Amino acid sequence: MKNELKNQLRQQDATALAQGYSPAIRAMEIASIVSFIGLESALVWRLWGNAHTGPWLVLSALLLGYLAADFVSGLVHWMGDTWGATDMPVLGKAFIRPFREHHVDEKAITRHDFVETNGNNCLVSIPVAILAVALPHTSASWVFVSAFLGAMIFWVMATNQFHKWSHMDEPPALIGFMQRVHLILPPEHHRIHHTAPYNKYYCITVGWMNKPLAMIGFFPAMERLITWATGAIPRKDDIGTEAALELFEATAAAEPPVVQAAKELLEATTADEPKPVSPVRPS
Ligand SMILES: [Zn+2]
Ligand SMILES: [Zn+2]
Repeated sequence: MKNELKNQLRQQDATALAQGYSPAIRAMEIASIVSFIGLESALVWRLWGNAHTGPWLVLSALLLGYLAADFVSGLVHWMGDTWGATDMPVLGKAFIRPFREHHVDEKAITRHDFVETNGNNCLVSIPVAILAVALPHTSASWVFVSAFLGAMIFWVMATNQFHKWSHMDEPPALIGFMQRVHLILPPEHHRIHHTAPYNKYYCITVGWMNKPLAMIGFFPAMERLITWATGAIPRKDDIGTEAALELFEATAAAEPPVVQAAKELLEATTADEPKPVSPVRPS
């Protein structure tokens, strides 16, 4: 009997580990959230009493921070989706697996509570929060840098929450409104990423950076650079070697949309031939 119980316990533990979510990780997440809120509050308190702080400085820091967080969310998401394998030591279970799982079971995120949703991003933001609080707030530039960093990590913290809401069938009314006016990540916008082969629209804070990054072919260019440097094939672990290779060859030949658009514009302006008149169709 005792042995049976022991086996069961070990099994449960193994399952928790396989999912990358154990009581120890949860405790660390709670500690991260508490530390993050403490540091952000300290930053607000420091900035509040500073003579250089004004409404325009705060507004521009919040807006630039939002764009920066959106970009960072895209970059990290792209790394998690594209490189490495779930069976890699340490990184595989803790970092890569959730990204792969999210493409297979995209509703899992809606079942995560506040701590599981937001703990990770609080943890990675803590060093930046310490830096923002510790900066010498002696000039307007320093105060701006500090406010920008504080705003950026605030939006980084909010990213998983916005992402989670975009996967909910019925988000709260106010959230639904903010999604419709595209102030946070709208579900139909994020759907573009969830379409196989999952190789575009990685930004998941608000998604404002997705279109510009797609236009300049940012992620395909980064992938070519990394493949050239390391020989690794992007998305091999996510969609399988065959599909990944095929996709890689197809995107390697493609030009970024902005180059295509420029070429089309150039052709349109240099073409002096009048357009052929379309024949009148008999009714
Ligand atoms: Zn993804
Ligand atoms: Zn998603």
